[in-house]
Amino acid sequence: MYLKILFIEDDAEDVEILIEKLKEDGFVPQYLQVDTAASFMTALNESWDIVLVDFHIPGMELDATLKTIRKKCGDIPVVLVSGRASEEALAAAMQLGVNDYLLKDNLTRLAPILRRELTEAKLRREGRLAQEKLRYVTHYDALTGLPNDTLLREQLRSMLEDAASEHGKVLLLYVGIRGFKLINNSYGRSVGDVLLKDIAERLTGCLREGDIIARYGGAEFAIVLPDMSRAEDPELIIKRIVSCFSSPFKPLHQEFFVTLNAGVALFPSDTSDADKLISYAEAAMNHAKLLGENQIYRYSAETSAATRQQFAIENSLRSALANNQLFLHYQPKADLANRTIIGMEALLRWHHPSLGLVPPLNFIPIAEQTGLIIPIGEWVLLHACRQNKAWQEMGLPPIVMAVNVSAAQFGHGDLALTVAQVLRETGLESKYLELEITESVLMSNTHTSVKTLSELRLMGVAISIDDFGTGYSGLNYLHRFPISGIKIDQSFIRELNGSLNSEEASIVKAIIELGKSLDRTVIAEGVETQEQLEFLRAHGCQEIQGYYLSHPLSSDHATQFLAGGFPADFFQRMNHHAGQS
Ligand code: C2E
Ligand code: MG
Ligand code: MG
Repeated sequence: MYLKILFIEDDAEDVEILIEKLKEDGFVPQYLQVDTAASFMTALNESWDIVLVDFHIPGMELDATLKTIRKKCGDIPVVLVSGRASEEALAAAMQLGVNDYLLKDNLTRLAPILRRELTEAKLRREGRLAQEKLRYVTHYDALTGLPNDTLLREQLRSMLEDAASEHGKVLLLYVGIRGFKLINNSYGRSVGDVLLKDIAERLTGCLREGDIIARYGGAEFAIVLPDMSRAEDPELIIKRIVSCFSSPFKPLHQEFFVTLNAGVALFPSDTSDADKLISYAEAAMNHAKLLGENQIYRYSAETSAATRQQFAIENSLRSALANNQLFLHYQPKADLANRTIIGMEALLRWHHPSLGLVPPLNFIPIAEQTGLIIPIGEWVLLHACRQNKAWQEMGLPPIVMAVNVSAAQFGHGDLALTVAQVLRETGLESKYLELEITESVLMSNTHTSVKTLSELRLMGVAISIDDFGTGYSGLNYLHRFPISGIKIDQSFIRELNGSLNSEEASIVKAIIELGKSLDRTVIAEGVETQEQLEFLRAHGCQEIQGYYLSHPLSSDHATQFLAGGFPADFFQRMNHHAGQS
């Protein structure tokens, strides 16, 4: 049996006797003898099977020597070898952490002691490894290697104790990745897993030393930023985290833009309890989800109430379709050059039995999160196409019906097939249908969305990008997608009031230019004033929509609007303007 022995012994002769005895007993010993603190420290850089230590070495304290061994070598067995020693001295040595002892004049016990100590050390080591493994499994997330909920709570509790004694502040950021389920379902777990690992890595890269990040089930992460009082502005850290997501992820050769939501809770101002801090930040994150992509929400006592309202809405939304509580309004669109009404946009309305009219922005995000957007979206498509066909059958001038489609509808099933079925069922020609999509559709998963969009374009359905300018699609990105129109977001139009040199004015001009150069129709939404209209017309915007032309109208009013021809006063206002300029 090979044995690597470290002797802490000042008598070379004693060492030789022990080695001879070991050889007799069948060991093949390899050894080093040290007798100074310095050589002992150097020897500990190597690994040893066992340490044999003499009682008295001038210049080395047994107590300190043992402590060093325990610190640097863990469970290695240490056997005291002594010339003469009293019972008390031996007992004291055992107390200090020696595993066993041996008297130099009775070496018959040498081999049995060593064999037993080696076996016990092996068991101790295995036990420790098993325990470490168990601790790892129960405290870390297997996929990302990040701490899990259990470990985070442990660490957070002790962090909060430290912070409390130093009057420090701790910020907890709860981050949820949007649309992850969709990616996981449509691309498979292997892509989802790699994406999650990449996300975890990017998030970790945004943090400072001493910050903690943990993975919560699914695609959620909790980030603890201690030392907030002394450190940089939390806003900056949060901005940095959001900006980490501005370039695409590329798991297994797929490309995704990922957006997130985050909730923030602060110790001690929101709560001094670790568990509450986590659940407050999580509630704030759920609230942020309702506000849209990349939104961050700071916890407040009202957050929980808002989250409760979300659940109430979610529950009653499930039955809204079956109970005929949904209906559509229609908002006209005009062509500025031809002075014609060219289309209507279907806008969803929900008449809730007790809440009254719920605005779409309060329930569409919930429908998207819960998957209810799929049946609801199909319902909207069917009813909008049916209405448009009905207008044509009444003999009204044909117009294009625009239907808003959520990103979630692209990831689920076959949108192009659904559209084809609806067109067949209602008898509407495809050129009278337009889908309004958001930039997130283009950004979230370029491969399937391009395929679906191409199929829809081939069928003859128009596609326009709604709320253009609010997402991240670089202006020069657009030619890659088979889209027919761009709808400038109303936030830019709203700011077109008088100061025509504003940043918004130059963005609007740039978008109109871009549309022209790519041969895409440009429509401005949210046009409310003559001033805005003037600006848009002067810069060559082809189409407009907004309260200046008409509010969204009920089905009956929309019919009257179409039957009445073009709104005389609208054109009067335009003529008036034309006469002035
Ligand atoms: P959107 O598609 O960008 O629709 C324009 C929103 O601006 C509508 O709000 C409309 O009523 C409002 N609006 C129109 N003209 C003006 C104006 O001149 N000034 C102002 N301040 N607002 C104007 P609405 O109906 O509340 O819809 C909000 C959003 O909900 C829509 O934004 C769309 O993203 C979503 N949405 C509505 N219906 C559907 C639907 O059937 N499916 C999906 N997926 N989303 C829908
Ligand atoms: Mg729209
Ligand atoms: Mg819009």
